[in-house]
Amino acid sequence: MKDCIFCRIINQEIPSTKVYENEYVYAFKDINPAAPVHVLVVPKLHIESLEGLNEDNLENVVHIHRAIKKVAEICKINKEGYRVIVNCGEGAGQTVWHLHYHVLGGTKMDEKIL
Ligand code: AMP
Ligand code: ZN
Repeated sequence: MKDCIFCRIINQEIPSTKVYENEYVYAFKDINPAAPVHVLVVPKLHIESLEGLNEDNLENVVHIHRAIKKVAEICKINKEGYRVIVNCGEGAGQTVWHLHYHVLGGTKMDEKIL
């Protein structure tokens, strides 16, 4: 999508620090990290949010989750543990309207919100 910042990152029109990529997903470092490891995993297909998932694009969820495990391995946080967050909708604080999974780790997460 032309005006979507993450589509532009995927298309390499905007620079990013790539962590992992395959045919379906792109994973890159968050520009404003909230933890020592903070990677965004996004589908290459433009899907606005979790609410934009439907029967036709749902297979992307499997690709994303497989990629999250890869990212955790690459960033060496798979053993110690990591947190995965998806903000869905304005009320949850979503600011970029291209589905993205935050993968956070590299520190002890003391604050539990759930
Ligand atoms: P959210 O608030 O859940 O929609 O998350 C959007 C995330 O995208 C934030 O953590 C931002 O720091 C991150 N972000 C925005 N622009 C860029 C960019 N150009 N490169 C990397 N991360 C970005
Ligand atoms: Zn997009």
